[in-house]
Amino acid sequence: EQQVVLITGCSSGIGLSLAVRLASEPSKNYKVYATMRDLAKKERLLASVKGLHADTLDVLQMDVTDERSVWDAREKIGERRVDILVCNAGVGLTGPLEALSQDTMRQTLEVNLLGTIRTIQAFLPGMKAQRSGRILVTGSIGGLQGLPFNEVYCASKFAVEGVCESLAILLQHFNIHISLIECGPVNTHFLSNQRAEPGESQVGQVDPLTCGLYATYLQHCNTIFQSAAQEAEDIVQVFLEAMRSPSPSLRYYTNSTLLPLTSLKLATHDGRQYIRAVNKLIFPTASAENLSRVGTSQIWVAPASLRSGFSGDKVRLPQPYTSPPP
Ligand code: NAD
Repeated sequence: EQQVVLITGCSSGIGLSLAVRLASEPSKNYKVYATMRDLAKKERLLASVKGLHADTLDVLQMDVTDERSVWDAREKIGERRVDILVCNAGVGLTGPLEALSQDTMRQTLEVNLLGTIRTIQAFLPGMKAQRSGRILVTGSIGGLQGLPFNEVYCASKFAVEGVCESLAILLQHFNIHISLIECGPVNTHFLSNQRAEPGESQVGQVDPLTCGLYATYLQHCNTIFQSAAQEAEDIVQVFLEAMRSPSPSLRYYTNSTLLPLTSLKLATHDGRQYIRAVNKLIFPTASAENLSRVGTSQIWVAPASLRSGFSGDKVRLPQPYTSPPP
């Protein structure tokens, strides 16, 4: 019997690649419900599977911030059950905290935190009743450790960790496994899709030292993405590992190079060493004096130039899966 998989956020990135990979398994082991907020964006998905997979793929509208839309999608599942739920939809948000608007912050928490909870709420009763199921959540290094200029994004992803860890204890009693796939930088449209604040109108609210540090942070971020970002296909492999494991663990790390900092955070309980290490990593040469000399006009071009590197052509489209991995 086919495993029924529902994935959120499939119009791009990790969700798109995972949907394509599962829907094009020659064994047709999976029936994939690839969901997305805006069905007008389904062409990339359909082009990637080359339209050949009517029996393994269905595309549904689902906006994780809209309860009605989540419930409507659930009603359209012909099998009346979901065996594997993938909560993947998410948005990024960077910028000095004082420049973030209430609306932008609320929207980030709505998608990343409440959207994940809402999706789980919709499918949990079914899984509990059938006494089986898997819930996979796209986690982030930003959910395990704080990162400057990512306060609200990290808050949303830390919160998701709390939800999953808490649920994992209870769900053992129902033979339901919940796993976080913890990602570092991944070469998707995530950066270009993310909200980078402040906008032009808010520039004046932020002091020059913060502006200088933000510019340094953006450069660091750019370097890390250029040198260390994984491809969505690499992340898909980790999802498959978690999906196929007879006893999945709560956390999977897609990139072992990220572990030392997380370990440092856990090993030294007062938090000082972690803060010192990340400061040194991201702001190696920052001195208050140097930074305050940077004019704001130089700084606000950075998000655009950062984004331009990740739009369109640089991001590879996922390929249908044709042969087993070596
Ligand atoms: P992406 O921007 O390509 O994909 C995110 C998807 O979520 C998009 O398809 C977007 O349309 C969708 N989405 C946004 N709001 C939604 C809503 N309200 N309802 C339904 N869908 C919505 O980027 P990605 O890298 O593939 O991101 C997927 C997940 O990976 C996110 O949860 C993100 O936080 C996480 N992540 C990404 C990175 C990275 O560097 N790319 C790193 C760590 C974690």
